[in-house]
Amino acid sequence: MYNSSKLQLKAPWGVVWMPLYEYFCQPCNGIFEELRPMREATEPVPCPQCYKDAARIMPTSFSAFTFRDGYPRRIPDDNQFSHLGKKVTKPITSARPNEHPEVNKPQPRKRKLKGEITEIQDMQVAAAKGDLVDWYGNTVRPREVPKMVDDGRILRKGTPQSDPLA
Ligand SMILES: [Zn+2]
Repeated sequence: MYNSSKLQLKAPWGVVWMPLYEYFCQPCNGIFEELRPMREATEPVPCPQCYKDAARIMPTSFSAFTFRDGYPRRIPDDNQFSHLGKKVTKPITSARPNEHPEVNKPQPRKRKLKGEITEIQDMQVAAAKGDLVDWYGNTVRPREVPKMVDDGRILRKGTPQSDPLA
C-alpha cells in the first residue's frame, strides 16, 4: 500500500535530504545537477534548457562518456568545464589524462622544519660514513638524502648489505 509518510523522511535537523545527481543532455551537450530522491535517481530528468530527457551520469560510467569537443559544458552555462567532478575554467590540454592543472595542482614544496633539517644533516653525516641505508639495505649517498626524505623513503642507520634479500 502506498504510504506517503515514507516520502517525508526528515533528517534530525528537519531538512529532507536528497542526494545530488548529475545528468547529461545530449542535444545540449551539457551536464546539469539535480537534487533527486534516491529512488528516482535513475529516471531521466528534463533538461533545464531544452526540456528533453537527460540521462543520469553514473559515477562509474563517467570516464566512458564521450563528449563533443572533449568536454561537456555545464547547464546553466557558467563558462566552466567539468573535470573529474570539479569545476575548472578550461578544458584539459595536458596529454596526460586525469591531470587537469586546476584539479591536480602541483603540491607546493613543504618548508622544512628546523628539526627536519637537522635530521637530514645528521643522516648526511651518517651517509658520509657509509652508515646509512635505505629500506632494502642499499647504501645511501649524502647528496641523495634530501630527495629521498622528500620522497618519503625510509632511511636507517645500518651496514649496507650486498644482497638486499639476504
Ligand atoms: Zn538540453
